[in-house]
Amino acid sequence: MNDQQILKLKQFGKLNLQVPISSLTTIRVGGIADGVIYPKNVLALLETIQFCKNEAIDYFIFGNGSNILASDDAYHGLIIKLTRTLNNIYQNDHRIVVEAGYSLPSLAYYAMKQNLSGLQWAGGIPGTLGGAIFMNAGAYHSSISNVVSEVLVLKGSELEWMSNKACEFEYRKSIFQENRDWIIIAARLHLTQGDFKTIESIMNERRDRRLNTQPLSEYTFGSCFRNLDKPSWQYIDECGLRGHRIGDASVSSKHSNFIVNNENATFEDIINIIDLIKEKVKTQFGVDLVLEVESFNWKHH
Ligand SMILES: Cc1cc2nc3c(=O)[nH]c(=O)nc-3n(C[C@H](O)[C@H](O)[C@H](O)COP(=O)(O)OP(=O)(O)OC[C@H]3O[C@@H](n4cnc5c(N)ncnc54)[C@H](O)[C@@H]3O)c2cc1C
Repeated sequence: MNDQQILKLKQFGKLNLQVPISSLTTIRVGGIADGVIYPKNVLALLETIQFCKNEAIDYFIFGNGSNILASDDAYHGLIIKLTRTLNNIYQNDHRIVVEAGYSLPSLAYYAMKQNLSGLQWAGGIPGTLGGAIFMNAGAYHSSISNVVSEVLVLKGSELEWMSNKACEFEYRKSIFQENRDWIIIAARLHLTQGDFKTIESIMNERRDRRLNTQPLSEYTFGSCFRNLDKPSWQYIDECGLRGHRIGDASVSSKHSNFIVNNENATFEDIINIIDLIKEKVKTQFGVDLVLEVESFNWKHH
């Protein structure tokens, strides 16, 4: 980006230059991005994207970076972050309309406080609503697809409300993964009347269970592989890889489907662990594990 472009982009929101992507991902890995912008509002987001297209500036949408593995390479483009600013929420009885940058755990606790049921599974998933819709995030046999009625999407220069059906949600899948130029702007959710105490006790119990079974105080991107016929952690465990370390990355000793950055792990450390797991599981069980984490600034091999 040249000085002129930087000046123009600054109209649309806070622009930080030369940002370590490791500061934007929960695994704390990633090279330096030329810029990160926090568009002030939806109009500023639309204009940012239009500007990038006109100026041939590469861009990529980040939610909370909790499901992204970025390479250590420099990114010569603009990361568009929807947290901080695109987080308005409006409620009408059981219906909520929320912008994509809204934090998923905050949304779950907001619903609880309003006696609204349907998001009890979401309290421990550290993403945004947009990231959750993109991934069809979920837990405990529920997912965001169960409460989404419509999604507001930017397709090219058109805004469109897409129905739940049109989003083609499946286990950890949505149509957005096949259409990476579409941007999720907001969603309408339908929740049901619930009881505060009941919702609170379910969420507390699940929080405690997560604390006991997942390495929540460490740098991770959540589950590394999608679950197949049986949970991926079982395959990894049965290959004897629990706790296995390469460089500064390791398979979590608390949960074998979590890879942990012990402080200074490089992208290569993480990829080496991923490759080792895939290779061992393939040799021992003939099973091809599929990555759940999204890649940024590198290609799956
Ligand atoms: C400790 C921990 C526990 C986790 N537990 C779970 C769990 O139980 N269940 C589960 O499903 N996941 C879990 N995850 C993974 C992750 O939190 C979810 O996938 C989450 O929904 C990702 O949201 P995000 O905002 O962080 O997305 P990001 O990681 O920022 O982005 C993920 C992908 O979504 C795209 N994206 C994000 N926002 C938009 C948008 N507005 N429009 C278009 N594309 C967009 C990005 O471009 C990227 O490709 C966990 C992660 C951690 C670190």
